[in-house]
Amino acid sequence: MTENRYDVIIIGTGAGGGTLAYRLAPSGKRILILERGDYVPREKANWDPQVVNVEAHYNAKESWLDKDGKDLHPHTNYYVGGNTKFYGAALFRLRKEDFGELRHRGGISPAWPISYDDLESYYTQAENLYQVHGNRGEDPTEPPSHSPYPWPAVSHEPRIQQLSDDFARSGLRPFHVPVGVMLDEKNPRKSRCIRCNTCDGFACLVGAKSDAQVVCIDEAVKHSNVTLLTNSLVNRLETDSSGREVKSVVVERNGSMETYSADVVVVSCGAINSAALLLRSANDKHPRGLANSSDIVGRHYMGHTNSVMMAISKCPNPTIFQKTLGVNDFYFGSKDFEYPMGHISFVGKLDAITLKAGAPAIAPNFTLELMAKHSLDFWLTSEDLPDLNNRVTIGRDGKIVLTYTPNNLEAHERLQGKLKLAMKQTNCAIHGHDCHQGLFGRNLYVGQRIPLAGVAHQNGTIRFGNDPKTSVLDANCKAHDLDNLYVVDGSFFPSSAAVNPALTIMANALRVGDHLIKRLGLPETSYEQNRQQDRELAVSR
Ligand SMILES: Cc1cc2nc3c(=O)[nH]c(=O)nc-3n(C[C@H](O)[C@H](O)[C@H](O)COP(=O)(O)OP(=O)(O)OC[C@H]3O[C@@H](n4cnc5c(N)ncnc54)[C@H](O)[C@@H]3O)c2cc1C
Ligand code: SF4
Repeated sequence: MTENRYDVIIIGTGAGGGTLAYRLAPSGKRILILERGDYVPREKANWDPQVVNVEAHYNAKESWLDKDGKDLHPHTNYYVGGNTKFYGAALFRLRKEDFGELRHRGGISPAWPISYDDLESYYTQAENLYQVHGNRGEDPTEPPSHSPYPWPAVSHEPRIQQLSDDFARSGLRPFHVPVGVMLDEKNPRKSRCIRCNTCDGFACLVGAKSDAQVVCIDEAVKHSNVTLLTNSLVNRLETDSSGREVKSVVVERNGSMETYSADVVVVSCGAINSAALLLRSANDKHPRGLANSSDIVGRHYMGHTNSVMMAISKCPNPTIFQKTLGVNDFYFGSKDFEYPMGHISFVGKLDAITLKAGAPAIAPNFTLELMAKHSLDFWLTSEDLPDLNNRVTIGRDGKIVLTYTPNNLEAHERLQGKLKLAMKQTNCAIHGHDCHQGLFGRNLYVGQRIPLAGVAHQNGTIRFGNDPKTSVLDANCKAHDLDNLYVVDGSFFPSSAAVNPALTIMANALRVGDHLIKRLGLPETSYEQNRQQDRELAVSR
């Protein structure tokens, strides 16, 4: 065993851990980052749908169990940058109302212990850091902001522009989805992003996606006070005899066990693995799991109710980068359904190879190849509500057990109904209303596994709140039960809202970063000063 002491240990390099590392790196404090995975290898296979979607080559090679004890093969990724390496980079703010209590058809979506205004400036910082491209003022549910997006929205390709015009004519207010890709449409020759068709679900071979590795970890490790250890699986956190402090972090690395310690330990392994780590760290002082006097750790697992709906038209859809259009008109309800329904946008353009892996119902007279050429591939997200019984536990053999019963499903069915209606109203110049051939669900339960999105948007298992009886973390994301343990991944969410979670995880990590800078007695360097320091560091190299 080796023993090493740091000021801060961060476990996990995804949206939460990576962003926090970036924020703390210029502080000069000794920071150790522990990541169970390695870097995604740069290889042509990064962009190969057969390798990525059919062979699931980059997915975690482990199995969990569902509530019936059946094996699940989670669609999650253990790499430097975490799941952001493979994400679609749609970077949304939650709506202002999502921070308050909202009444849904299926129950109550609870209020957060902080308000939208507490996070607003951090959303701006996160949008700058992750180079979000968007247009303010188009999305009818967009929360107030003090500054424009740092980059103009990614433009629609002609088929998507046509759909946007159709939707607008039928009374909807479609908008450009905010995305974190390093695309410069005014200067295509120099643009780092080449606007390709293998973005959502794929790692970017040319390093042009704003993921937590490229944007945060690569910058953080330029500071000599920051150490990153890859292939370092944290097995357990041990406390001192009082039970109030994490005393050591036990790591499996290169086949042996090592221990590290720090004044502050930040867990950011993703909502499922973070809960599992705390539960596995049970000891005499924390018999139900670390920080779990409330018995809330692992509970309230949420992952959104998602579906992919393919709208097949007689007109082809030659779009390359499809994830540019969103519709939030039904986010909070409609005249005929007074409850929130959710959000409509797109996945990356589906191809025939990927379709074979999760075959949809076939449209009459179409083959899979034809369907892929003619489909508009929608992504629908509705809020799932926190339920005590939807939870992460550890099985007798040490495996993760994920127990999940979907809820609030009427909201999602209504949302699908709204999309069906909107598509019927489209009116193509060549085929009129007949152009639209119908909507076809693509099976998300590939190979009988849990829904892909069920773990892609994982959140809620270590919720923050003001009451230590009903939450694990306080409003600063510090464990109520311990003095030096923080959690900054998606597990802090008390409700899941219905837009993609990553930007909120990033913004919150920057907020917790500011808190830690104060706690560690550091001068309150602003985020902008940090960015300037990074730029100077880059020039001096
Ligand atoms: C295909 C796909 C598309 C997506 N598209 C979008 C999108 O368009 N927009 C959006 O907002 N979100 C999207 N998401 C979700 C988004 O990627 C996640 O919300 C986000 O990455 C979660 O951040 P996190 O910090 O909670 O965890 P992660 O990013 O998962 O990071 C956790 C890290 O911890 C490491 N780790 C885990 N356990 C341990 C351990 N015991 N010891 C050491 N290290 C450990 C993991 O290897 C990983 O690097 C998508 C996800 C997927 C899979
Ligand atoms: S080049 Fe652009 S569109 Fe292609 S994967 Fe990279 S960021 Fe995405």
